[in-house]
Amino acid sequence: MTDFTLTTDADGVGTITWDCPGKSMNVMSAAALLELSDCFDAALADPAVKGIVITSGKKDFAGGMDLNVLAQMRADAGDEPAKGLFDGIMAMHALLRKIERAGMDPKTLKGAKPVAAALPGTAAGIGFELPLACHRIFAADNPKAKIGLPEILVGIFPGAGGTTRMVRKLGAMMAAPMLLEGKMLEPKKAKAAGIIDEVVADPVAAARDWVLKATDADCVKPWDKKDYKMPGGTPYHPMGFQTFVGASAMLNGRTAGAYPAPRAMLSAVYEGAMVPFDTALKIEARWFTHVLMNPSAAAMIRSLFLNKEALEKGAVRPANVDDQRVAKVGVLGAGMMGAGIALVSAQAGIDVVLIDATQEAADRGKAYSEKYADDGIKKGRSTPEKKAELLGRIHATADYAALAGCDLIIEAVFEDTAVKAEVTAKAEAVIPDTCIYASNTSTLPISDLAKASTRPGQFIGIHFFSPVEKMNLVEIIRGAETGDRAVAKALDYVRQIRKTPIVVNDARFFYANRCIIPYVNEGVRMVGEGVEPALVENAARMLGFPVGPLQLNDETSIDLGVKIAKATKAALGNAYDAGAADDVLFWLFDQGRMGRKSKSGYYAYDDAGKRVGIWEGLRDKYTRGDQPTLIDVQHRLMFAQVLEAVRALEDGVLMDIREGDVGAILGWGFAPWSGGPFAWLDMLGAEYAAARCDELEAAFGARFKCPALLREMADKGQTFYGRFGSKKVA
Ligand code: NAD
Repeated sequence: MTDFTLTTDADGVGTITWDCPGKSMNVMSAAALLELSDCFDAALADPAVKGIVITSGKKDFAGGMDLNVLAQMRADAGDEPAKGLFDGIMAMHALLRKIERAGMDPKTLKGAKPVAAALPGTAAGIGFELPLACHRIFAADNPKAKIGLPEILVGIFPGAGGTTRMVRKLGAMMAAPMLLEGKMLEPKKAKAAGIIDEVVADPVAAARDWVLKATDADCVKPWDKKDYKMPGGTPYHPMGFQTFVGASAMLNGRTAGAYPAPRAMLSAVYEGAMVPFDTALKIEARWFTHVLMNPSAAAMIRSLFLNKEALEKGAVRPANVDDQRVAKVGVLGAGMMGAGIALVSAQAGIDVVLIDATQEAADRGKAYSEKYADDGIKKGRSTPEKKAELLGRIHATADYAALAGCDLIIEAVFEDTAVKAEVTAKAEAVIPDTCIYASNTSTLPISDLAKASTRPGQFIGIHFFSPVEKMNLVEIIRGAETGDRAVAKALDYVRQIRKTPIVVNDARFFYANRCIIPYVNEGVRMVGEGVEPALVENAARMLGFPVGPLQLNDETSIDLGVKIAKATKAALGNAYDAGAADDVLFWLFDQGRMGRKSKSGYYAYDDAGKRVGIWEGLRDKYTRGDQPTLIDVQHRLMFAQVLEAVRALEDGVLMDIREGDVGAILGWGFAPWSGGPFAWLDMLGAEYAAARCDELEAAFGARFKCPALLREMADKGQTFYGRFGSKKVA
């Protein structure tokens, strides 16, 4: 395997070409770094080489580090992983520094061989840290290319000098969006931001010309010059002081301190800004080691990238079923969900028949797509032509005859078994025999709804989350009689609309809602016990949940909570265990506080509907006495959810822990830094988790009873990923 090759031409330009065999995009590996080093040494040592161009043999420059390598880095770092990682990172720094100095005499700053990077397209992560170490960066005028350092999005930060170089180049303030948000820029914007030097038609030709003409002065980086001053000032400079104080506050405001990587990066930037460049690299390496040593980095990469992608590519799709892509979908019910489902389907190029009880209601559903397109035009994301095309695909009507020729139906009418049965019969009178029929129900068992169908083998659940166009998870539910073709159809459809699927078996609340409800209930129950509501909400935010349980209940509405509580109690009888939460919920309901939609709930709201803080009436009624520790509140919130996930696995509702982890993060924002419920339990270790269950059970009740599976794993010293790996459980 050769990822890097060096060729030298008659003019004395050595071209190092990066071209990973068998891959569509270049990604960096440890072995490839050594090859790059060898190529560079050879070019440097060859007197015939006057200048060096580093480019790519593919349409893009590089996508970054191989994520599989990153996820394994800590495990592969030997018996002393911190030392192994630090040494590996320092070796990477040494290589990029060698490229940056390119044989220069450190005293006179003369004699370097000019090195230019020529980027034909996207350059991300280490695929941009390498160009940042070159003396000049040329990018092709390719508006599809994205240039930048997105590492923060995978739970790490640019650790191959990217953090230090970007800050030295732009100053901390200007570098912040690139580093802290992982913002990627197309070439012209990248040049305007000052992160690349030239945008040209032919970057290799321009880079060749440049290296042949470059002077000694062109090859000295600003930070290697004696008079270097950091743009925007260092931390003790009055300007810099403001930036750093502000950055720290902003970061904590946004992440509530839940993510290790942004904090570590800010420390690397702050400390690095006060010392010479090479010391700053060493500091960067120490903080990067710190992040890689935290299991969060590998867990995030595994769930949010590797496993998410595997699920999107059909990891759980039944084999031996042909392509089931959808050409024409019928959406029954043009309410909030139906309107969103019509929009995302039409966006994917699928013809949509959008049905409601009346023409007006159907038109209202279609108007949702119109408004979406208009907003897109205003924001420059869409054009009048695209809008016309989108709306042209949606046929809004009250006439079921229009469903003729559909190959998929998605039903999103009222959550009522009788109404659903009625529309199933009406649709089946018209649709082809082969058509797959899906319900978007959130609470009714699919196997029960399938009883209204004459073809239960073709009946399935496709459960979207609201708002449909924003939420990326789709939960596919296999009923007792659902056949493989229906599952394949649902998966192929989800792939068409570019969302992430999980496939679960039919049971009360399926998977996501089954875990969300205990989260909300635990928070509400604590309020009922006298815990300060702000402590509950902040404990959740500090775990990285996008919204606390009380806010979530306000958003989804108190009356819906009451409805679900009553139905669950009726179904479970004596086994129902949420009475303590219901006291609070029903009390709010009796006060007419329905949540955000009534501008009153756990929170108080102003006239414009903005939350203005916890409602004092809630405190007056419930908050009492000594308060629990933060960690106890957090563990109650976490265990309430993860034990439900373990039970879903035990019950066979979940068939694959990857789906359990990816689904939790995408479906309800489960602490993304943890990698998901199973990844989090693996971080704790089954033994500790089981012992903690015992304590929580003794203190707070049977809902924390350790599931048999977890107990067994504790006894055997197993982890979820060790035991179930990437294989199916069932
Ligand atoms: P909604 O009340 O906004 O929309 C329901 C629509 O169905 C209405 O437009 C209504 O006119 C139409 N309808 C009712 N009876 C009909 C009939 N006989 N023929 C044709 N149309 C009929 O409700 P929604 O929030 O869009 O929910 C729809 C379904 O999606 C429910 O099953 C719900 O449980 C489920 N769901 C909702 C959410 C959510 O967050 N709201 C999330 C996931 C799933």
